[in-house]
Amino acid sequence: MNVYDSERMLEAVSKTHKLVTSPNDADAILINTCHIREKAAEKVYSEIGKFSDLKRKNKKLKVIVAGCVAQAEGNAMLQRQPLIDSIVGPQMYQNLPNILLDESNKRNVLLEFNEREKFSKLGTKRNYASISSFITIQEGCDKFCSFCVVPFTRGAEYSRSVEEVVEEAKSLCKKGCKEIILLGQNVNAYHGAYKNKTQTNLAGLIKELAKIRKLERITYTTSHPRDMNDDLINLHQYNEKLNPYLHLPVQSGSDNILKNMNRKYTSKQYLEIIEKLRKKVPNIAISSDFIVGFPGETKKDFIETLNLVKEIKFAQSYSFKYSRRIGTKANRINCSLTEEEKDERLQELQMILNKQKIQYNKTFEGKEIEVFIRGKGKRDNQYRGTTKWMQSTIFESNKSIESDKVHLKIKSAMDNCLLGELI
Ligand code: SF4
Repeated sequence: MNVYDSERMLEAVSKTHKLVTSPNDADAILINTCHIREKAAEKVYSEIGKFSDLKRKNKKLKVIVAGCVAQAEGNAMLQRQPLIDSIVGPQMYQNLPNILLDESNKRNVLLEFNEREKFSKLGTKRNYASISSFITIQEGCDKFCSFCVVPFTRGAEYSRSVEEVVEEAKSLCKKGCKEIILLGQNVNAYHGAYKNKTQTNLAGLIKELAKIRKLERITYTTSHPRDMNDDLINLHQYNEKLNPYLHLPVQSGSDNILKNMNRKYTSKQYLEIIEKLRKKVPNIAISSDFIVGFPGETKKDFIETLNLVKEIKFAQSYSFKYSRRIGTKANRINCSLTEEEKDERLQELQMILNKQKIQYNKTFEGKEIEVFIRGKGKRDNQYRGTTKWMQSTIFESNKSIESDKVHLKIKSAMDNCLLGELI
């Protein structure tokens, strides 16, 4: 979402400013920030400190901090770091042009949750497009998981209108986009309306997007198990443009921990969703997130997570040690685990998840599949791309590739990617 937000910020200021490649050439430095991990704010302060020479040399240089750290830290940022000129929360980017044009020395603090105005002012015309492009369709979250800061930094759930999203997708497709990745903190809670005020869900929106002729692939992230409805599950079977991939964070396999996390589903309910999906699309790539060492996690809770992982067999996963976030409920629960114990658990989980990833990728060996090219690889004649199962893929070609997609025969499955050969 930060990639998308950064592109939208650049588009918002494109009438008066152009992108430069070095801070040395800049009249304005926009720092987009993420608050999902602990210590994010510290990193931002140290980055800004590096601009002190530039500020001394160029009295007109503006340093603006945007994103979730700005939202969470608020005025404290201005007090702590005098180099910052303004701070702008994630729902106020529409005001960036005015802030940049403001010649007074006023330090702006824009932290309201004004997502409706933001999206309407940013508009649907896009300057930045690539074969796979992002569109935020939903922002904010009403779930209040006990470990998460998103409801405080991004605000309540808001869904953009169907027409707005479709127009933006068309604008991207005109510029060469063939795959849209729909984004939302809780993307499958999407409940946008048409102009005539009729509401639809994510499945309804995907059906509308699939009508765009030039659009070949659609995917969405990140989903919540509670919002995984039958419309969406069935669409995976019937809509050929919808990628056979689902990122569905489970976080833990222990019902006790899921309850303390306020996730509002049980491991059994999660398993049932996966079973339903696999009945419709047997080789669907299931990806997930895990938090290890959540406060109160016993050995038994952890074993329940391992058991769930062994039963489901994930194609990809992201796993982390629990990280405390100030202001969240979980921050008030005591944690008796040492860092070493958390490390050991994380390693054990990751070993199983990595094996599962390779096992899943091995099922592609010998298959011929289409790959969207994302760019050059590390070697001169190497290219990298992604499959519709969202696997990274690498191949070589001695001739330069003109097209943005190729067909490959998969030769082998490595730890983090598939190796293919041009057909
Ligand atoms: S559903 Fe996701 S974004 Fe919302 S509170 Fe839970 S973890 Fe955070």
